[in-house]
Amino acid sequence: MSINACFAADYSDARARFRDAANGAGAHLTAIQHPLRGPRGERLFTDVAWVGPADATRAIVTISATHGVEGFCGSGCQVASFGLLKAGELPAKTALIQIHAINPHGFAWLRRVNEDNVDLNRNFLDHTKPYPVNEGYEALADAILPERWDDEGRAAADAKLNAYAQQNGPAKLQWAMSGGQYSHPHGIFFGGHAPTWSNRVISRIFRERLGAMRSLGIIDYHTGLGPYGYGEIIAALPLGSPSAVRTREVLGKEVTSPDDGSSTSAPLTGVNQPALVGLVPNAVCIGLALEYGTLPVRDVLDAVRADAWLHAYGDLDSPQWRAIKATMRSAFYGDADDWRSAVWGRAEEVTRRVLAGVAAG
Ligand SMILES: [Zn+2]
Repeated sequence: MSINACFAADYSDARARFRDAANGAGAHLTAIQHPLRGPRGERLFTDVAWVGPADATRAIVTISATHGVEGFCGSGCQVASFGLLKAGELPAKTALIQIHAINPHGFAWLRRVNEDNVDLNRNFLDHTKPYPVNEGYEALADAILPERWDDEGRAAADAKLNAYAQQNGPAKLQWAMSGGQYSHPHGIFFGGHAPTWSNRVISRIFRERLGAMRSLGIIDYHTGLGPYGYGEIIAALPLGSPSAVRTREVLGKEVTSPDDGSSTSAPLTGVNQPALVGLVPNAVCIGLALEYGTLPVRDVLDAVRADAWLHAYGDLDSPQWRAIKATMRSAFYGDADDWRSAVWGRAEEVTRRVLAGVAAG
């Protein structure tokens, strides 16, 4: 199967390619239906493919579409992974478990967020406690998401953002915008006020199906940060925690962390991996986000702002809808042969290294 054929044109196409490849690999497949539908009335699912023995104690777990629209990349890598790690060729007691489209609503609607405008990767925190306060976001909220998304509205909003960047540096602007916030439900990088459907589903998968695991490698596919086509290995795990240490042991110095300034990512709140690792206390875990670059970060953030504006204030059946959705797609999916082959080349290399680490763990 050619690499291009692993990557899909939309969510439903991705699901079909994933299930075909899973069946071809002899996977056991389960599907969890989402309560809502896609923009064409299509049904939405999170699919789980399990290749290898049911009583495996070691596994690679891959996750796509944590940030919906980023699923083009993750789904393509998952389809290709079925060819890399076939049943019968996996080490003893080892499984490949692929969670396809954990945020299928965002994937189908070309959004980073889910059906509640929630960023799933800011949603994994204790919702009974006071939320972290993002002071930068508070100061810039009306400029990040202006009521008008026309030339005049944007010029005023962007002037305020640019002034903030000049005063505090561009990294601080990126942190303010993307670190996560819990105060503006229509805004961007909103972490929600309760565990979302996707959070509950993936937590249940980890709790109920991975309890017997002793050694796990978790690869969560992302896009939108860093150089075009390059895959950064981000360990969004507490610095010094056993899983963070193990991830660095296995993958070496190129592992970055948002918490020590080594990553293109801002420091984040409510991320998924520490929570998921916490659900498999008997397993030694390697955990990483494989984050691929697409466009410059301000272009990506502007696409996210436009999409948030569209869903908060815009018309979901208009030429502007189509223009903003096209921008979102290209901000999170490098729909080109060179991008796809670079993405899979890196994913294949990282998967092999993680598998070696899982086998030794
Ligand atoms: Zn992402």
